Amino acid sequence: MKKRFALLFDLRRCNGCYACHVACKAEHNIPLGVFRIRVNTFEYGGYPSVKKVFIPTICAQSGDSSPILKSCTDGSIVLDGNGIVKKNPERPSYNTKVINRIIDSDPYGGVFLHPYDRCVDFCDFCSSTRNVVADEMPACVTTCNTGAIYFGNINDPESSISRYIKKWDGRVWKGEEVKVSRLKENELPGVNVLYIGLKKEMEEVIGGYRQFDPTFLEVHRWREKGR
Ligand code: SF4
Ligand code: SF4
Repeated sequence: MKKRFALLFDLRRCNGCYACHVACKAEHNIPLGVFRIRVNTFEYGGYPSVKKVFIPTICAQSGDSSPILKSCTDGSIVLDGNGIVKKNPERPSYNTKVINRIIDSDPYGGVFLHPYDRCVDFCDFCSSTRNVVADEMPACVTTCNTGAIYFGNINDPESSISRYIKKWDGRVWKGEEVKVSRLKENELPGVNVLYIGLKKEMEEVIGGYRQFDPTFLEVHRWREKGR
């Protein structure tokens, strides 16, 4: 069966330590202010039961449905033989129109203009620096201390990500059914970034391209119905 690589965040295990974010910057030489992976912070509920949840977000990696792949007209973004969307090192684009079109097409806010090389940049599952298709893990996965990130071929039932999904999807945990889901899955087909513990309200405040102040930790609040 054709391989399909995916990355899964289990939000129940994420403690917002930013280690994945720092490891990614070190691996790919990403400066302050722009991110291949962002750790978004959400608070909800009211005193005395306030809760905080951290949601790491990256490029949706939606294979041949990828909007950034479709909007790239000069071959600077390609789909590799393993279905991973990545930059074409042989054809970097410095064309402002193409760059703006690519960035505007991205509903996840995962693609940005790299301030050093002036080309677009985004998460490629570390396929440009590691042999991830042969079981080497991406930098964020090996760095996460809580075991909140899983990566691998979801079409292989023996991969660690498939086994983790099989273990949890549909199981009842702390009185709630665990569901593996995708951000904005109704808007974008083929997304290969999965979550456990995602709430609908989170989708409303994530996505859309914005420049970020590196010192500003965005905190979004919402109230759960009935609390
Ligand atoms: S390293 Fe793991 S625990 Fe820390 S912010 Fe990233 S996903 Fe969450
Ligand atoms: S898979 Fe690699 S490029 Fe993507 S967020 Fe993790 S460390 Fe960064």
